[in-house]
Amino acid sequence: MNQALRGLPAVHRFLGEPAIAAFEPLVGRECVKRAIAAELDRARLRTTLGFAALRAAVLKRLEVELAATLLGVINATGILLHTNLGRAPLAGEALEEAMRIGTGYSNLEYDLAGGGRGSRYDRVSGVLRELTGAQAALVVNNCAAAVLLILDTFARGREVIVSRNQLIEIGGGFRLPDVLRRSGASLVEVGATNKVYLADFEAALSPRTALLLRTHPSNFSIEGFTHDVPGAQLSELGKRAGVPVVEDLGSGALVDLRPYGLPHERIVAEAVAEGVGLVAFSGDKLLGGPQAGIIVGSQPLVARLKSNPLLRALRVDKLTLAALAATLRLYATPESLRRIPFYAMASLSCEELRLRGARYAARLPAASVVDCAAYVGGGSLAQASFPSVAVALATGQPDALDVALRAGHPPIVARIEHGRVLLDLRTVAECDDEHVIGALVAASV
Ligand SMILES: *Cc1c(COP(=O)(O)O)cnc(C)c1O
Repeated sequence: MNQALRGLPAVHRFLGEPAIAAFEPLVGRECVKRAIAAELDRARLRTTLGFAALRAAVLKRLEVELAATLLGVINATGILLHTNLGRAPLAGEALEEAMRIGTGYSNLEYDLAGGGRGSRYDRVSGVLRELTGAQAALVVNNCAAAVLLILDTFARGREVIVSRNQLIEIGGGFRLPDVLRRSGASLVEVGATNKVYLADFEAALSPRTALLLRTHPSNFSIEGFTHDVPGAQLSELGKRAGVPVVEDLGSGALVDLRPYGLPHERIVAEAVAEGVGLVAFSGDKLLGGPQAGIIVGSQPLVARLKSNPLLRALRVDKLTLAALAATLRLYATPESLRRIPFYAMASLSCEELRLRGARYAARLPAASVVDCAAYVGGGSLAQASFPSVAVALATGQPDALDVALRAGHPPIVARIEHGRVLLDLRTVAECDDEHVIGALVAASV
């Protein structure tokens, strides 16, 4: 039925409203039209409903719609690799390379020298070998897929020996004992919760042993009366017993993090140098690249992974490979490394952050600049924090301010500590400062 006949405003009147039109580039024109149509449908059931009330209802519906789409947000949590906020932001170089490769054709699976079929898995293995000292490398979808591929290749129907203190669950339901079971391997747990010795592994060896597995306890630590088996000792045992040693390194740092004021984190090259047969790690944690799972190790072991048909289901995309290759090239010098946002953010001095904080304080009566701690996050370096600077907002209702900031465009994700809203400036890009200050002014802070 004609809307005018029912006294309802026409669709184009809503579409002409600037506040509503602003959603078009964000959620698409069709979505905006659907939201208007839905509210008009609801209005038909009621007797009186003016344009202003309908406009407000359409805007509310669009806000809900927007919150469910993929959006850029401003991370003011101070957690550099925030799993819920997309983990590692990418370097411009990585995105340019993905754009260059993605908008045209490439030698993804083409051997330019021979003119025949090539392998996508060889495209980044050179630089990975160089950076880690390993003989061979392979890239899959993520680190969980890397672990699954390794277990499926070597351990189906056989035994995997793991220290009890490394039977981890990382976020998103990835539980090592469950993954082992799913891959048809049986788990042989050794040691006590706090202590494990080489002799425990040795005693558990049997003709059915397929692998000795080490995992990085990424998101927890056991302190006090503890003992662990170093990678070199486990590798030695593996060699004697003829059993490959595998390490799930998780966050996978390629460089020493101590110059950034962070604690020592085992780097991939260390595990390789200790003789670990295969090392698996993520592309989007400390490496600072796209989501990917990287396996480096000995040539014969990687060759076996490559011949597993499961690899086809875990295969990495060309955009990922392009972005990963460009990210890895930035590891050439400490200066170029800082083109990777994680390393840029980690390098910011507290003095620089304090200067930025002062600009907030000058404009916002309730703001003060405070020292705080930033975190690596992303299941990396569990307890590791390093000095940072935050803008603290004294408000009677921290929760309400937190909600208001998250409802902005773009949303701002902060943290609440001791009844104050804290905006850690280490993870906020300087070019976003004006926007954040504007949002705080609008929230009448
Ligand atoms: C993060 C992590 C994984 C999973 O990595 P994804 O790339 O997210 O699949 C596996 N193992 C460890 C030890 C981790 O820290």
